[in-house]
Amino acid sequence: MTTGTPDHEDDPAERKMRFLFALRSRGVTDARVLTAMERIDRGLFVKGLFADRAYEDMPLPISCGQTISQPSVVGLMTQALGVQPRDVVLEIGTGSGYQAAILSQLARRVYTIDRHRRLVRESSELFRQLSLTNITAVARDGSFGWPEQAPFDRILVTAAAEDPPGPLLAQLKPGGVMVLPVGQSDAVQSLIKVTRLPNGFDYEELRPVRFVPLVEGLASE
Ligand code: SAH
Repeated sequence: MTTGTPDHEDDPAERKMRFLFALRSRGVTDARVLTAMERIDRGLFVKGLFADRAYEDMPLPISCGQTISQPSVVGLMTQALGVQPRDVVLEIGTGSGYQAAILSQLARRVYTIDRHRRLVRESSELFRQLSLTNITAVARDGSFGWPEQAPFDRILVTAAAEDPPGPLLAQLKPGGVMVLPVGQSDAVQSLIKVTRLPNGFDYEELRPVRFVPLVEGLASE
């Protein structure tokens, strides 16, 4: 009987090394971000047909016709956000919960919003299983932010709006940073970094990206 040599794709340690190598080679160099991405297993956030592709650097379909972002984009956005250990962070677009889980390793508290109740339910269950107790998820329209918990040190939007939503700008602390994709939904969008200055906002364009659109209102499921 031959057992054969185990396929290196199936060796978790090797798989993790390749995952981290791919992140570094695409510009994710911040040690804290890499450690967070090493700790949080993306495989737990991708279910069904595409589960075996969870460690590849590509976006994948999740429930409700949405997508979990490409790991290198998650890493670059998190890095651009410059999260500090005492920060309170707001994320718009919970989706699978993967990005929120990464943020939970870097911040004091993470509030995350999705317009799909089902995504909020499923990701909250995962946060509970992983004992990520500093994340709170809620189903509502994220374009209005979360006024009850505002202001925020950092805001990350993972769906594209045509312009930065006014309520989100208003909920950013002085010195606070927001990273978000802007542009028409079916065209190339730009990832931008907005910093709240004492008397206005500074806008920096980071890179072209492609995200699902920020849609108005609560979804039906
Ligand atoms: N950050 C996610 C990926 C987000 S995909 C992850 O790590 O998996 C974009 C998400 O934004 C989708 O789940 C979509 O339902 C949500 N979304 C779109 N418009 C929204 C809105 N107005 N308010 C809240 N969530 C919204």
